[in-house]
Amino acid sequence: MKKLIARSESGERRNFLKTALAGAVIGAGLLRERGSAVAASSENPLPELPEGDSPLLRMQRDVQRAMKKPVAERKWAMAIDVRKCCGCNACGVACVAENALPPGVTYRRVPEVEFGNYPAVSRYFMPSQCMQCDKPPCMKAANSAAPGSVSKRPDGIVAIDYKKFRGRKAFDAAAKACPYGALYYDDGRFYTDGTPAMQPYEKMESFDSGVPLKRVKGQKSAPAGSGRKCHFCLHRLENGMLPQCVTTCIGRGAYFGDLNDRDSLINEVLAKNKGKVVRMREQRGTEPRVYYLWDDPAFVAAYHP
Ligand code: SF4
Repeated sequence: MKKLIARSESGERRNFLKTALAGAVIGAGLLRERGSAVAASSENPLPELPEGDSPLLRMQRDVQRAMKKPVAERKWAMAIDVRKCCGCNACGVACVAENALPPGVTYRRVPEVEFGNYPAVSRYFMPSQCMQCDKPPCMKAANSAAPGSVSKRPDGIVAIDYKKFRGRKAFDAAAKACPYGALYYDDGRFYTDGTPAMQPYEKMESFDSGVPLKRVKGQKSAPAGSGRKCHFCLHRLENGMLPQCVTTCIGRGAYFGDLNDRDSLINEVLAKNKGKVVRMREQRGTEPRVYYLWDDPAFVAAYHP
């Protein structure tokens, strides 16, 4: 915990957060523009919260309550309200900072996607990441090439053993099997390659899947040379904190919690938005743990063909 706090106060992190803030300011303008569409399309997607409470505080309490249970009794899931995403990418920048990610590795993306047929076309921002599938096709593919490299934890997180998930062959097999483009290969590069000095940010320890990791220039030891992906910020959950992307979302459009807890906010949000909840490419049988909220029929049809 101390390490996490110390790092959160570091100058490097402040620089990243400045970048995220700039994105957030731009995003806030977009959000205002889209505000009328959101208001017109739905009532408040959140259940009533007591005065003085906030979704983030409520979800943090949910995480802390879940962490008191045995791991097999937790069922982590995320929900993203597409109506609230303004495409600012603050979540993605915060994720890069939190996980000290190198060039070419982005656990969280926010592509702009298009639905419908002309002239009834809509465009949305669709935050995307590893869906922590209950039936992950990446796991079988990775383990055939590199036994024991990818596993499904009892709480639902699909975890990577970076010392085993090595090399292009295992990565290519798993990446081809994943329907969400959620896996990235760490090819050992640094942002400062070709410049006179490495920045302290690039020497920072990260905690993917709860395991301390340090990338060292010139060495190809894990996680360099391994496949990588989102792990729902397992290291933060273990310290009673929400995933970084959830806390950073300026539209408050991300929800996280334990589906096995009837009192968790994520369960209430999913229940309140019944009929507007979709999971990406569900028809592939992957059973993703990330849910999307939206009430545009074209959007829902795209994911329930
Ligand atoms: Fe595996 Fe892709 Fe599913 Fe993540 S989203 S668990 S990488 S198949």
